[in-house]
Amino acid sequence: MNKEVLRILENKKVKATAVRELVLEVFLNNRFAHSLSDIEDKLPWSDRVSIYRTLKTFEEKGVIHQINDGSGSSKYGLCEHKCQATKHLDIHPHFHCNKCGKTICLEKQEINIQNIPDELRIVDYSLILNGLCSGCKDCN
Ligand SMILES: [Zn+2]
Ligand SMILES: [Zn+2]
Repeated sequence: MNKEVLRILENKKVKATAVRELVLEVFLNNRFAHSLSDIEDKLPWSDRVSIYRTLKTFEEKGVIHQINDGSGSSKYGLCEHKCQATKHLDIHPHFHCNKCGKTICLEKQEINIQNIPDELRIVDYSLILNGLCSGCKDCN
C-alpha cells in the first residue's frame, strides 16, 4: 500500500478503507482537481455512491477541498498538510483551462481582499483564473 496515502489518512484522522485509499491515490497520482466522474473513470470499478461518500468524508476531514470552476460540476483538489477538519486553510485561486477543462490549485498565490463594506458578512469566496494550461497552450 502507498505510504503517502496512509500517512495522509493518519494525519487527517481518517480511518483507512480500501475505497478511501484508492480515491486518495487518484489525487496523489494526478496533481490537478478531479470531479466525481474523473475519479470514477480512473478506478477499476464504478460505484458512484461510495466514491461520493468518500469525497464528502475527505472534505469534512480536510483532506480535499471543493472547487467551483464554473464548468458546472464540482471538482476537488488535494489540501495542503495544514488543513484540518472543518477548518480549510487553503483559500487559494484556481486555474481553469478553457480548452481541456483541467483545473489546477494555485497554492502559492494568496487572495487578498480588502475594503469589504462593514455591513457585508463574507461566508465564502473563490477566484478562478481562466486560460490555457501547459498542455494546451502550444497546440493549436
Ligand atoms: Zn488544457
Ligand atoms: Zn485548490
